[in-house]
Amino acid sequence: MLFDIILPLAIADVYTYNIPETIQYPLTGKRVLVPLGRKSIIGIIYRKHEGELPANIKVRDVLQIIDEEPIVTAEQLKLWEWLSSYYMCTLGEVMAAALPSEIIDDNYSAATTQYIQLAPAYLAKEAQEQLLGELKRAKKQEQLVRDFLRLAQNYQVERRVLLEQSGVSGAILRTLIEKGVFLEEQRPVSRLLQYTGEIQSPKTLDIQQSRALTAIQRAWEKTPVTLLHGVTSSGKTEVYIHLIDQALKQGKQVLYLVPEIALTTQLTDRLRAVFGDQLLVYHSKFSNAERVEIYNQVQHSSKIVQNSSILNDTEREALNNIEHSERREARGRVILGARSAIFLPFNNLGLIIVDEEHEPSYKQQDPAPRYHARSAAIMMAYWYGAKVLLGTATPSIESYYNALSGKYGLVEMKERFQGLQLPQISMIDLQRQYHRKEMYGHFADPLVDRIREELAKGKQVILFQNRRGYAPVLQCTKCGEAPKCPNCDVTMTYHKATNSLVCHYCGHSTRIPSKCPKCGGEMRTQGFGTERLEEEIQGLFPEARVARMDLDSTRKKDAYQTIIDRFSNHEVDILIGTQMVTKGLHFNDVSLVAVLQADSLLNTPDFRSYEQAFQMLEQVSGRAGRTGSQGEVMIQTFNPKNPVFEYLKTHDYEGLYQQQIAERELFKYPPYQRLIMLTLRHRDLGRLEAAATLLQQRLQQSFGERVSGVIIPSVTKISNQWVRQIRLRVETTANIAQAKALVKEHITFVQRQEKSKGTTILPDVDPM
Ligand code: ADP
Ligand code: ZN
Repeated sequence: MLFDIILPLAIADVYTYNIPETIQYPLTGKRVLVPLGRKSIIGIIYRKHEGELPANIKVRDVLQIIDEEPIVTAEQLKLWEWLSSYYMCTLGEVMAAALPSEIIDDNYSAATTQYIQLAPAYLAKEAQEQLLGELKRAKKQEQLVRDFLRLAQNYQVERRVLLEQSGVSGAILRTLIEKGVFLEEQRPVSRLLQYTGEIQSPKTLDIQQSRALTAIQRAWEKTPVTLLHGVTSSGKTEVYIHLIDQALKQGKQVLYLVPEIALTTQLTDRLRAVFGDQLLVYHSKFSNAERVEIYNQVQHSSKIVQNSSILNDTEREALNNIEHSERREARGRVILGARSAIFLPFNNLGLIIVDEEHEPSYKQQDPAPRYHARSAAIMMAYWYGAKVLLGTATPSIESYYNALSGKYGLVEMKERFQGLQLPQISMIDLQRQYHRKEMYGHFADPLVDRIREELAKGKQVILFQNRRGYAPVLQCTKCGEAPKCPNCDVTMTYHKATNSLVCHYCGHSTRIPSKCPKCGGEMRTQGFGTERLEEEIQGLFPEARVARMDLDSTRKKDAYQTIIDRFSNHEVDILIGTQMVTKGLHFNDVSLVAVLQADSLLNTPDFRSYEQAFQMLEQVSGRAGRTGSQGEVMIQTFNPKNPVFEYLKTHDYEGLYQQQIAERELFKYPPYQRLIMLTLRHRDLGRLEAAATLLQQRLQQSFGERVSGVIIPSVTKISNQWVRQIRLRVETTANIAQAKALVKEHITFVQRQEKSKGTTILPDVDPM
């Protein structure tokens, strides 16, 4: 019988193979090994093949069906189908993104540990007494047996634990194994951490929070998606915790999405204190093997334990006391994760929380599928019959528009928890400061004074600069030459710590030239990044403890945790960071937040730049004054008159929204029209330009003035590939599927032409 199989490739959606009829059904969702050319590859069985194949195609047999049970569920396949059709990529590209690579390669192996077991001959008490008697003269051996009996459960214990606890050498243990007292066995163990702390009840909500909770539930009766617009530190997270608790009590699974891995660190502690080992965290910093274990756990979590979370206080206490093995089975009912967590095999999903829903990092840029996790979550809600809560202090223009138009429910929390004031925001005019020479490095004098005062009070300070490295440009003082990346059309960023120039597009790095490579003149840095701020602030405040959080300082898996913990425990006074420090983090002692250079946020030529600048600044300011007294935010800028700052000073989201939505309507941007951005890449500039011109012409024939001209992007070459773009607008009322089919046709046509051969053309639907 013929079946369509999904293979993790970008060429076609499905590949047809034969499966002999004697096989067990159902087959959909199981892995198969199939021949492909001279190799073999693992695919997922998708569906029975419908219709005839062309006569010249010789269908091959699958080599092996790998799984006894499907590993991909029907709901997952729906998500894959939707992602591939909406975001214009193949099912195989979705598959490659969706499954941990060890599932696709089938090379997962369980982690194991050595266990020590008592030989059956000594299970009886008398036998043990006799043994201890016999060992009287071998003191060390006797001690080890006694320690074993004390530590073992069911007469077995981990070898490592036994040796650590008793302090006796491995040689002694070996002797006892040779004597036949102990048996040794290799056993699989979970790679996932275990929670050993106490389980607490969710916090009692205050009036504003209880009202929000009820309002959210009411809104869900009308529409499955609700937007919770609550100012920073209004206590949204506590409201989520109550909603999660309720979903669990109904036996449902919960997906809690965050935009940034750094956020999982703090939230893990908060959620684990309430949900214990039911919580699993999932993101790209986990190893593949760990991700396989989480994947499997999610698939089975709600099948094993029924209603273990319908707990009153006594039962909660009981849960604290039951064996860990049992607790472990409830794992994976709450998943906290970054955007890729949408791909887990939920079987009973009841609630999806999209925290900081406005964050652009919910959109995957590369590779395909270029999906938005918020849109995917909303689709999933329909298939699973689940509810979605979008939470934020600064809604995306799109979501707020949908909420105002009644498509989503809308619930607001306007006060901070316990009536704390939102922070006070002021601008520092950099032009004036430089003119008067009232600057220390990149710090205006008034800012330096305020930092000094706050540190003297024992408070903490956050400094935000949206650029990592030391300086974005190293330039010759004589001829103006600035070293560029050999692979990309950008200047290289100076990293002082590694004494190198690094390309932030392709990662290429070189040594620092001591003299200008062109004229031999002296080189000097221009602009500044987090690394430089760190140096300057340390120079200003030699006594202060300073830490930096950016891509460079967080490459290791636990790096976020370490930095955030040290800052939380007030082992650090000043935290410098890129946008990683702006989102959702909660620190008690931060009284002052400074933005060192707001202008780069406002000067990008993008229709979202004001929206995103407001969101980022409002979010980073939200880190100030979260307990105790009112916080303060100082923003350094060359354009203090920019209207964004006016909205920011009064925390006037509505004002910003009204101004932005009017512009969007006028210029036909989302949510009024959809955008599809086509990016063309080629090593050969001539072929690329031929392809771009041809594609633009053909699109224009179909779509008229909805098509832009050929756009030359600000970075024209990345990793030795030249880049061009074409933007297409589609009315929201239009048949988008038809439009996409037409676009695909034109792409295929252009790629087949001799003069533009080899051009990569990447569609990005709803680009950010
Ligand atoms: P948001 O998610 O809106 O930024 P959080 O949920 O982080 O706000 O709340 C801010 C602070 O107030 C946190 O430290 C949180 O623990 C505390 N908090 C919020 N609600 C309550 C409550 N009902 N009882 C006790 N503390 C609360
Ligand atoms: Zn480069």
